[in-house]
Amino acid sequence: METLKDFEIWFVTGSQHLYGPQTLKQVDADSQQIAESLNNSSEIPCKVIFKPVLTTPDEITKLCVEANTAPNCLGLITWMHTFSPAKMWIAGLSLLQKPFVHLHTQFNRDIPWDAIDMDYMNLNQSAHGGREFGYICSRLRKNRKVVVGHWQEDQVQRQLGVWMRAAAGWNEIRQLKVCRFGDNMREVAVTEGDKVEAQKQFGMSVNGYGVGDLVTMINSVTDAQIGNLVSEYQEQYQFNVSDDHLDSIRESARIEAGMRAFLEQGGFKAFTTTFEDLHGIRQLPGLAVQRLMGDGYGFGAEGDWKTAALVRAMKVMATGLDGGTSFMEDYTYHFNPTGPKVLGAHMLEVCSSIADGKPSLEVHPLGIGGKADPVRVVFKVAPGDGINASLVNMGNRFRMIVNAVDVVSPDADLPKLPVARVVWVPKPDLKIGAAAWILAGGAHHTGFSMALTADHMEDFAEMAGIEYLRIDEDTTIQDFKKDIRTNEIYYMLSNSLK
Ligand code: MN
Repeated sequence: METLKDFEIWFVTGSQHLYGPQTLKQVDADSQQIAESLNNSSEIPCKVIFKPVLTTPDEITKLCVEANTAPNCLGLITWMHTFSPAKMWIAGLSLLQKPFVHLHTQFNRDIPWDAIDMDYMNLNQSAHGGREFGYICSRLRKNRKVVVGHWQEDQVQRQLGVWMRAAAGWNEIRQLKVCRFGDNMREVAVTEGDKVEAQKQFGMSVNGYGVGDLVTMINSVTDAQIGNLVSEYQEQYQFNVSDDHLDSIRESARIEAGMRAFLEQGGFKAFTTTFEDLHGIRQLPGLAVQRLMGDGYGFGAEGDWKTAALVRAMKVMATGLDGGTSFMEDYTYHFNPTGPKVLGAHMLEVCSSIADGKPSLEVHPLGIGGKADPVRVVFKVAPGDGINASLVNMGNRFRMIVNAVDVVSPDADLPKLPVARVVWVPKPDLKIGAAAWILAGGAHHTGFSMALTADHMEDFAEMAGIEYLRIDEDTTIQDFKKDIRTNEIYYMLSNSLK
């Protein structure tokens, strides 16, 4: 996916008939102008569709029902230009299943101190109209984002854009099909979870498929397909292999073409593998997984379906942004007091969307799994801002943990490390970042992104109605522990209010 412009966000303005047709005409025109201006903003990734101003309960309900069933509508921007008595919104908001953001703005930025009269005051009533609307949203316990500020401000448009990207990820996970080749790595806890609950909460369906069925597809790949893929590899990567590796590379291409066909046939956008179940597959799929992730598939190793779904949702959210998104694992620490940091990698499966420069295609033995030497691309990642996100199942809820990180250069080259790698410093530092992560039960597997920020993930978690814990430059262990304890009570009680 190159753009999110095919998706619509409906711009919805609330008002009432009390003010007379002249004022409503003005409200309509102002709303149209804001919608148009948002459409032209580089911060706004989706198409903003102006909807005629809503003045009655029936109009509001009709619009909410339409939004629910419009396949390209990701959600609503709601704005109260004037006062809109909010009992009118109860039926509609109760039915609304799409996310919405409350834009608390005003058409005119400045008070015209010399000219202001009661007509002006009656037209520009967001300051109290937005409060009436806010009350009913809170009374109905509706999750939503509130953005405050003038609609022409960059920061306001940026916040709306972030929310829209989260809505695109939410829309994706609602209908996502996750394919599992093999089960979880045996005895591993954090990659397990309740798949029925996940489908209820997120919409995604997660199902297992026989590795033998995949092998049948891998074996039916033609020599011509393999030849084409190998030529692609030669173009896209530096070839640091010897002639006796050519068979391994051809085998890797066969695996890639077979897997891709299987996923396309089933309409899957995310998948898992496990080195413990590769029956009939000659290598652990390394390059194949790296390339499929590069083309937008979500992936989780060792059967980790939650991370696979998360990586897919994050990739959709990041559409068109600079910086890549990958499956990741905290692998090894550098505890040197001069600059503690984390080396992130996996056995093979790191997405080349985060690569700095042309990746190097290599073949090396793998100590785990007892299979033939797998092909992989090896690369490093340029410094910048990044996040690690993890989704865990707490028994009575899903919890998302997000840690903002500084991606840094390694202290030296790593000439003997035969896998793609990223080096980062967690915020606020390694000790607090890792301690908070571990107290929260965050997994070793993550969705890692240099395109998204914690704000994207927070909006996404809000839409999903799941717990969200952020670890950033402001985190202290004392407060973080309190948050965890308070959340424990909150999530036990909050469902009884709905
Ligand atoms: Mn792993």
